[in-house]
Amino acid sequence: MTTTIGHLIDGAMIDDASRAQDVYNPSTGEVSKQVSLACAGTVERAIASAQAAFPAWRDTPPAKRAQIMFRFKALLEANADKICEMIGEEHGKIHHDAMGELIRGIENVEYACGVPELLKGEHSRNVGPGIDSWSEFQPLGVVAGITPFNFPAMVPLWMYPMAIACGNTFILKPSERDPTSTLFIAELLHEAGLPKGVLNVVNGDKEAVDILLTDERIKAVSFVGSTPIAEYIYSTANAHGKRCQALGGAKNHAIVMPDADMDNAVNQLLGAAFGSSGERCMALSVAVAVGDEAADTLVSKLTEAMKPLKVGAFSEKTNDFGPVITRAHQEKVVGYINSAEADGAQVVVDGRAPAVAGYENGFFVGATLIDRVTSEMVSYQEEIFGPVLQVVRANSMEEAMKLINDHEYGNGTCIFTRDGEAARYFSDHIQVGMVGINVPLPVPVSYHSFGGWKRSLFGDLHAYGPDAVRFYTKRKTITQRWPSSGVREGVSFAFPS
Ligand code: NAD
Repeated sequence: MTTTIGHLIDGAMIDDASRAQDVYNPSTGEVSKQVSLACAGTVERAIASAQAAFPAWRDTPPAKRAQIMFRFKALLEANADKICEMIGEEHGKIHHDAMGELIRGIENVEYACGVPELLKGEHSRNVGPGIDSWSEFQPLGVVAGITPFNFPAMVPLWMYPMAIACGNTFILKPSERDPTSTLFIAELLHEAGLPKGVLNVVNGDKEAVDILLTDERIKAVSFVGSTPIAEYIYSTANAHGKRCQALGGAKNHAIVMPDADMDNAVNQLLGAAFGSSGERCMALSVAVAVGDEAADTLVSKLTEAMKPLKVGAFSEKTNDFGPVITRAHQEKVVGYINSAEADGAQVVVDGRAPAVAGYENGFFVGATLIDRVTSEMVSYQEEIFGPVLQVVRANSMEEAMKLINDHEYGNGTCIFTRDGEAARYFSDHIQVGMVGINVPLPVPVSYHSFGGWKRSLFGDLHAYGPDAVRFYTKRKTITQRWPSSGVREGVSFAFPS
C-alpha cells in the first residue's frame, strides 16, 4: 500500500481523505506515494488556524521569533542529508544539487534571524516644534505562498521564514509533484518551537489555490511558478484586494563575446544549462555567440565538453544531473528538440534517447546542444525547462542584446567578455532583472532580493531579502505631539508647514 501525504494544519498532520494524486520517483518512473489534494473544508481549517494564531504571534517580540529561526537553521543543517534524499527521490536531483538548493534556502532563514534589526523602522525627531514622527512596519495577517516543483526546499524558504519573522501567519501550498521534503521542513520549524497555526501546509491543486486567492482573510499571496499561472494568480489575487507578487518563467540568454575566455564560458555554460536537468528558472538555455568565429569555437568546445556528462538516477552521486519531473514533461522537452530540428536548426548533441542502464523507465533527457536556432522558432520563444542548450548566432553585441530585450521573459542573463566597457553597457541597457558578468547564474544572495522583469514577474516587489520586509508588512506612520506651554498653539486653518 502506498503512503498518502496529508496536510500540516494547526501543528498536526491530517489526512482529509479527499482526492489524491500519484507522486513519482522520476528516476525509476514508479509511483512512490500519493498526495492528498485538499478540499474546501481542509483549506478552511488551515485559514481558521492561521487566523486564530495571528494575534498572539503578531504580539510575540521579534527577538523571540528570531530565536525560533536560529533553532530552525540548526535543525535544517542537522537534517540536511535526509532532506536531500527526499528531494532526490521525488524531484530527481542529485545529492550535490539538492544540497545547493537547501543551502540557498537556509541562507534565507539566516536572513530572517536578523528580523529585529530589519523591523526597526524609521524615526524623525522634531519634524515640527515638539513633534516627532516615525514609521513602523506591521504584519499583514494571514498570508499565503504557492510554490513550484523545481525547488521544493528553497522556494518555500524564500517565503515563509521572512513572512513569519515579520509577524504574519502563513499558509503554504507546495507543489503536488514533490511535497515530502517541503512538509518535513515545515515540521522541523515546529520542532524549533513555532506555535501551532503560525505555519500551515496544505497540499493540493487549483481547487485549494483558488480559495487562497479569493478568501478575504488572506491578505497577501506570494507565487512562484510558470508564467501563465503567475499571471492568473496575480490578476485574481489583485481582483480580490490582495497584495501579490507572482514570479513566472524564463528564457535566460548568455552573450558570448569573441574576446571571452572561451574555456571558462564553456564550463560555466555546462553547469548553468544542464544542472538540475535545466529545470531552473535561472537556467541558461540560450547562448548567443557574437560572430561566426566565436560561434564555431563555442559549439565545437561545448560538443567536446559535453561528452563525459552523465545523466542518471538521483541516488548515484557521480551523476551530473538526473531525470526531469514527469513522463509528460520528458515528452514535452523532446517535442521542443524535434520542433527545433524541423524548423531547420542543427541538433549537434542529441539527448533525446539517453541510455540509463537499470533505469529504463526513468524520465531522462540527455544533455542536448542545438546550433543555428533563430528567434522565429518555437523552441526559442518558449521556456523548455529541460537540459537543452540552444545556440543563436548574432553579428554584433547590439543584435545579441536586442534579442534579449525583445524576448517576453526577463529573468536572468549573463555576458561572457573580457571588455569592461562592453560589460558595463550590457548591464546598463539590458531589460532583465538579474544580470551576470562572467557569472552564469546571477541568483542574488539572501540579503539582496530575487526577481525578473517583463513577464517573469508580476508585481512590484521581488522575493526574499529587503523586499520581503516590505512585501510582508504594511507601513504605519505616526506623528506625535505632547502639548506643553512652550509649543501650545492656537487654531489654524492652514496646512501646517
Ligand atoms: P506551475 O505553474 O505548473 O505550478 C506552480 C504552482 O501553481 C504549483 O503549486 C501548482 O499546484 C499551482 N498551479 C498549477 N496550475 C494551477 C492553476 N491552474 N491554478 C492555480 N494553481 C495552479 O509551475 P511548475 O511546473 O511547478 O514549476 C516550473 C515553472 O516555475 C517554470 O516555468 C519555472 O521557470 C518557474 N519558476 C520560476 C521561478 C522564479 O523565481 N521566477 C523559480 C522557480 C520556478
